[in-house]
Amino acid sequence: MISAIDRPLRKLGRGLLDFALPPRCAGCAEIISEVDGFCAGCWAQLLWLGESGCTCCGIPLEATEAALCGRCIAQPPPIERMRAAVAYGEVPRVIALKLKYGRKIALARTMARYMAPLFDPSGAASVIVPVPLHRWRLWSRGFNQSGLVARELGRRWNLPVEQQLLLRRKRTLPLKGMNYQQRRAAVAGAFGVAPSRRLDGQRIILIDDVLTSGSTAEACARTLRKAGAERVELICWARVVRPAMLMR
Ligand SMILES: [Zn+2]
Ligand SMILES: [Zn+2]
Repeated sequence: MISAIDRPLRKLGRGLLDFALPPRCAGCAEIISEVDGFCAGCWAQLLWLGESGCTCCGIPLEATEAALCGRCIAQPPPIERMRAAVAYGEVPRVIALKLKYGRKIALARTMARYMAPLFDPSGAASVIVPVPLHRWRLWSRGFNQSGLVARELGRRWNLPVEQQLLLRRKRTLPLKGMNYQQRRAAVAGAFGVAPSRRLDGQRIILIDDVLTSGSTAEACARTLRKAGAERVELICWARVVRPAMLMR
């Protein structure tokens, strides 16, 4: 049994352990000089997206001077601004999987480090909300990977994080292989806002790990807007940018 006196010592011990262990690359675990970073080999494989692309959805725009992509002009999405730190590829995929299934919780800090510059917290007050898991999945996994990243971003931006504001009411089938209409139908009604919560005038920053078609995030945003949210932005770790990858 741990006594009250032991607890601070254990905490101190953990701190010393963190200090004593050399930092490792988030991609391949090679020893590196900086905490929450990458080795030169993994870094070279990363395509940082930053503020490039469509000013609304962030999809890369080629050979055009336009600020918005054709889809955002034709049908403005319920998310006013979507940004991802990196283009989805082998290294970002490994990191997302290691956090999700390998319980490498420290990777949430690495993701947050590179996602933080994509949002300016000095503007109007905002609330951070992670894309939720269904409660069965939450019980079996023990944590929501987007919730961990949201918590880290809350620290960096000094903004409140509401882990329970958005709920996943129904389990959805994997969206792989579905077209846009099928995806939209599959996630319709999947999300809800916590009972008796109104979000009038609130600005929500949705947090997700990997953005593929955007159908899930858009369903979240529609739910938040219906509950009164004034604006929804999405900040994620990685996004699929090649349309061919959506078909997998
Ligand atoms: Zn590496
Ligand atoms: Zn767009």
